[in-house]
Amino acid sequence: MFEKVLIANRGEIALRINRACKEMGIATVAVHSTADANAMWVRLADESVCIGPPPAAKSYLHIPAIITAAEITEADAIHPGYGFLSENAKFAEIVEQHGMTFIGPRAEHIRLMGDKIAAKKAVAEVGIPVVPGSDGGVANDAEARKVAKSIGFPLLVKAAAGGGGRGMKIARSAEQLGEALSTARAEAKAAFGDDAVYLEKYLERPRHIEIQVIADSKGHVAHLGERDCSLQRRHQKILEEAPSPALNADQRAQIGEITAKAIKKLGYLGVGTVEYLFEDGEFYFIEMNTRLQVEHPVTEMVTGIDLVREQIRIAHGEPLSFKQGDIRFSGHAIECRINAEHPETFAPSPGMITSFHSPGGLGVRLDSAIYAGYQIPPYYDSLIGKLIVHGRDRNDCMMRLRRALDEMVILGVDTTAPLFLRLIQEADVLDGNYHIHWLEEHLAASPKE
Ligand code: ADP
Repeated sequence: MFEKVLIANRGEIALRINRACKEMGIATVAVHSTADANAMWVRLADESVCIGPPPAAKSYLHIPAIITAAEITEADAIHPGYGFLSENAKFAEIVEQHGMTFIGPRAEHIRLMGDKIAAKKAVAEVGIPVVPGSDGGVANDAEARKVAKSIGFPLLVKAAAGGGGRGMKIARSAEQLGEALSTARAEAKAAFGDDAVYLEKYLERPRHIEIQVIADSKGHVAHLGERDCSLQRRHQKILEEAPSPALNADQRAQIGEITAKAIKKLGYLGVGTVEYLFEDGEFYFIEMNTRLQVEHPVTEMVTGIDLVREQIRIAHGEPLSFKQGDIRFSGHAIECRINAEHPETFAPSPGMITSFHSPGGLGVRLDSAIYAGYQIPPYYDSLIGKLIVHGRDRNDCMMRLRRALDEMVILGVDTTAPLFLRLIQEADVLDGNYHIHWLEEHLAASPKE
């Protein structure tokens, strides 16, 4: 096994990876910007290296600084976490060129899934259902009109290089198509330096359902069921759960098998997530994330499998420690993303956490690097923790979530915790009756105090 792993990330996920390494007897190296010098994941790692000033471009995204930190500490592998360099194929290659292991998929798969047009084509070829749309990119308005005629309106113009919902525009009629194309192109060019776009049928009220997959270097592939991440705001997931209240056992088994088979055909390595929209009983691929995801704990809670541990073992060349048939799904799990944001306006709220009490007890997990006295820096994502609860069934889980939210105390900054207390009193949420626009429609309808 690796002797030392460098964790090229920050916040709760850096701590999460540190925990997995410790349990495997692997020494850890934390890297941090000057803004994160006192952070908990830095203190809990065996060694730490300051890699630059606060802006991420000069620290957490600065490849030479990270490689140098790994070399001087003699780390054998680098775990990129999520975000930052986790889906940067070049980084994965550079790590390997320096004689270290990148704990993630092969660069070719990161690159393939980063190009949405190529990804859609590749997954369709291995049997994954995709949203009807243009066959590849659309070169000009005339071509777009032709595609629109065959798939109908509403349509979605999407950026090939897309990410975070940018470069995406809806056209509800032929009149709107020209403008949607030019704005999507301009946005994509500005955000990604690439103005290639493609067209897709726009689904009105889908759910977001994703399948967790895992593959080792010996050809073993398994899926770990689905996560329902339909409660979103501005395309950002807010609450995730497993299993999805919308699927029956047949649908679950079918999409899991289709996805695992496809992943095997692609020759994928490591953990990954295939994201689908689900409407009227049909699944439609939207993208594949070639990394660990923020919401991976809900899968861990219902399967009892430590995904980070498996990820590290696979990167080291070990076989999966289980087979598909060994996986036992048990109960229900829900994750709430606790952001340092105002629970109604969502304005970021960096600053000092003056008081903190972690919820606990049976079936409660808090993945967070915060502590009383911790100063949340203003430079990074506002996610400060994830509250995950597990129960025998969905109802049990909801009751436990309410209890855990009531116990949790975070003072000094605003957090989104009160939003969840409100949400779990909503009939639609309690009934699992929601889609990807539900939260935004609900927020728009409820007056701010
Ligand atoms: P990004 O990489 O920018 O996040 P995705 O393809 O994952 O782009 O899409 C982001 C979000 O946009 C999805 O989670 C979903 O909410 C919405 N979306 C994407 N494709 C469609 C579609 N064809 N119809 C309706 N909504 C869509």
